[in-house]
Amino acid sequence: MIYVTDLTEYLFCPYKLYLKKIKGLPLPQTPEMLTGTIIHKIYEEVMLRERIIIDQRIDEKMGIDEIFKILYADSKRVIKNIMIKNKGKLKDAGVDYLELIKELQEELKEDELLKSIRIKKYIGLYGKDQNLYKNLFMMKDMEYSIFSTELGLSGKIDKLEEDSEGNLFPVELKTGLFSNGIRKHEKLQVSAYALLLEKERGIKIPLGFLEYYQVKQRIPFLIKDEDKKEVLDILSKVKELLEGEKEPKKDKKNFCKRCGYNEFCWSS
Ligand code: SF4
Repeated sequence: MIYVTDLTEYLFCPYKLYLKKIKGLPLPQTPEMLTGTIIHKIYEEVMLRERIIIDQRIDEKMGIDEIFKILYADSKRVIKNIMIKNKGKLKDAGVDYLELIKELQEELKEDELLKSIRIKKYIGLYGKDQNLYKNLFMMKDMEYSIFSTELGLSGKIDKLEEDSEGNLFPVELKTGLFSNGIRKHEKLQVSAYALLLEKERGIKIPLGFLEYYQVKQRIPFLIKDEDKKEVLDILSKVKELLEGEKEPKKDKKNFCKRCGYNEFCWSS
């Protein structure tokens, strides 16, 4: 089975995919990759737990401050637990462990305050009904696994959202800041999820989102037929590469500096 991430990796560098999938060379993790993975995990866990917390611990009489205290205390707990588990790895990679905890706490503090305001506003208007979470965050699923035997493609959608009319939207969570427009690999990734959802549900998925969760920025974009065609084109090139096992050309490019295989490819 080919993964959606194989397609984006191919777009960066076919040789990288070849080293990973055909040569089986483990990809050394850079400090940025490690930090990104941990931050991603923290946000994912916070969002998963929030649903239960809002359900079980928030009541209609609470003010914004009380709601915020509950949400933020839980976020801090998640940060602490996940950071403790990864302390050794972060130290080995030279990441400032305490500084990262501080940054994450600040980011989530602001995030939870905004959510608390929205929760209080919703409850004030409609009461605490079963649609509170869905209407506030449009959340349907996190880490939604999806595959198509017809395409021979599978993936995991960071966040699957559903609006009140039953329309579905794939959302890709991103670290950092949105700048310089939507990049080709991001569009390819979300379009691939849309294509998989269309195969699974038999409905059209015309819109996807990039969500820069640290800066609370959501970027919507249309998924056009040509984007889905691009997914199919890359998929067939990836299949060719993996089935043919032919070594692709190795090109030096800017991306090499940030690639985990940099030393392997260019040290001599
Ligand atoms: S270092 Fe450059 S050429 Fe080598 S795998 Fe990475 S991106 Fe490709």
